Amino acid sequence: MFKTLKRIINWCGDLKSKLYIGFVFSFFSHLFSAMPIMVAAYTIGLLITSIQSGKPFDTKWVLYSFEMIAGLVILRFAFDYMRSKFQEGISYELVAKDRLAIGDALKRVSLGYFEQNSTGNILNSITTGLNVLENMGIRMVDDFIGGYLNFLVVFLCLLCFSPVTALIALAGVVASFLFLLLISRYSTKNAPVETKAGQNLQEAVLEYVHGLPTVKSFGQGGASMQAMKTAARENRDIRLKIEYGFTPANCGHLLMLKIASVALAGAACYLGLTGAMELPIMLMFVFFSFSIFASLEPISDSAHVLSVIDAAMDQIDALKEGNFIDSDGKDIRLSNFDIAFDHVKFGYENGREILKDVTFEIPEKTTTAIVGPSGSGKSTICNLLARFYDVNGGSIKVGGHDVREFTCDSLLSNISMVFQNVYLFNDTIRNNICFGKPDATEQEMIAAAKKARCHEFIMELPDGYDTVIGEGGGTLSGGQKQRISIARAMLKDAPIIILDEATASIDPENEHLIQEAISQLTKGKTIITIAHRLATIENADQILVVDDGRIVQKGTHKELIREKGRYLDFIKVREEAEGWQIK
Ligand code: ATP
Repeated sequence: MFKTLKRIINWCGDLKSKLYIGFVFSFFSHLFSAMPIMVAAYTIGLLITSIQSGKPFDTKWVLYSFEMIAGLVILRFAFDYMRSKFQEGISYELVAKDRLAIGDALKRVSLGYFEQNSTGNILNSITTGLNVLENMGIRMVDDFIGGYLNFLVVFLCLLCFSPVTALIALAGVVASFLFLLLISRYSTKNAPVETKAGQNLQEAVLEYVHGLPTVKSFGQGGASMQAMKTAARENRDIRLKIEYGFTPANCGHLLMLKIASVALAGAACYLGLTGAMELPIMLMFVFFSFSIFASLEPISDSAHVLSVIDAAMDQIDALKEGNFIDSDGKDIRLSNFDIAFDHVKFGYENGREILKDVTFEIPEKTTTAIVGPSGSGKSTICNLLARFYDVNGGSIKVGGHDVREFTCDSLLSNISMVFQNVYLFNDTIRNNICFGKPDATEQEMIAAAKKARCHEFIMELPDGYDTVIGEGGGTLSGGQKQRISIARAMLKDAPIIILDEATASIDPENEHLIQEAISQLTKGKTIITIAHRLATIENADQILVVDDGRIVQKGTHKELIREKGRYLDFIKVREEAEGWQIK
């Protein structure tokens, strides 16, 4: 509990001073919310005393007390306003920074990280975890520290008027604190379980939504709902179990405070009736006893929420401090863009070896086609060049520098990738095209779109370049999405292009436009293509034939068709498929 409070305060970093100033305002706000009752009680006490003694009551005192109460109420709201002005913005600022920091961190981890940390887990941390911190973090610290600070002042006041009542109040708070420790211990144990249940639910919902088109096409709604239903049920059961688990301690905490209130009122009455306390003071104490612990009552919730926040902060820290693969990387400016794989060995996390001693060179401004059977390792070669993963043996050099010498940003500034499965963001076409160069001018953006053969269809859309294209580019055809992704790569204008040619058949019109766009994109660049079209393969300066993680043949089309081997077999199959003739 205290560890989490300290953790949240440290999380505030440069904004700590705002937090502390907020505590001062919070303290006065609590104090002024209790004082009107005391004034009212004291006035009633004076009235009763004057009636009892037969002396006339000074009615001016009623006016004074009314003015005092009004003043105190105004002060209470003014201090509360100042507290929120200082404290409320802190979480929003820090959480916004954290979200960006996580986004930045995720760019710098190996893609293997995402195989070990599910999307649901990451999403849960960025949304639910940070939301808890954003909405509750500072409030819990304020409730906790403000609550006890407030009690300290009340305790000192009580001590001045009547040490006995002060000790009763202190005993109540100590007893309630013991229950608080119980809640905290219980919640610390269960908060990670609760978080995990939330992650599982989020993951199941994501999976269900992503799979909806398949669900619909196979008419299997019932089966696919099952995982989500199970996760929802488990989430409900775990939350209920945890809630019921700490309810007794929660009640115990409140009960101790209420018993102390009653004892305090009883002690004040006893002291008043035995003449040890003046009547107005006694009444003030009796009235006050009902609100004296008001600032401590919500703390039982804080103890549980603090444990949930602690678990969320663990997750967020783990994401922010992910295993960066470029911690020692530098910003390197290249003078050439030759690529060299030297005895590269690689296997995915805890898996078998996929690339076995791969060696080849690609001189800059040449085109290399990679061909080979499905699963032979073609995409893996491209992923390693972009350093999505690190090699297990050997080295990969770009422009004479090992890819491990670069920061991820610096390496990827030299590379554009055009994938078969294009991903477009749920944003305007303009922002999707400018993704690789956000500061591009309108003219540059339109020029790239024209070269990528997408300007015409974009202009026919209702909002032109400002058309929002839906998540994953859902409102566009496959060919249109591909051309937009080519425009995006064109605008980035990177010297190395990694291209994964579409295997799926696209209509001839689109195919023709895409080929035109690609030839515009690749002019004068270093190209590495996972090639499927025979025209691309034939025109390449170099062909790498990959089989079972090895380069089994290397050369131009003319050289390779003269050899007996995998390439000739491959071409024959393509020949049959495309009606090609070996030239
Ligand atoms: P295709 O032509 O079908 O796209 P490919 O030649 O590009 O295949 P890769 O995608 O490089 O082949 O895959 C090579 C091997 O690595 C395959 O056996 C595949 O199952 C495995 N593999 C690919 N990605 C991963 C991954 N993320 N984790 C574990 N294994 C993987």
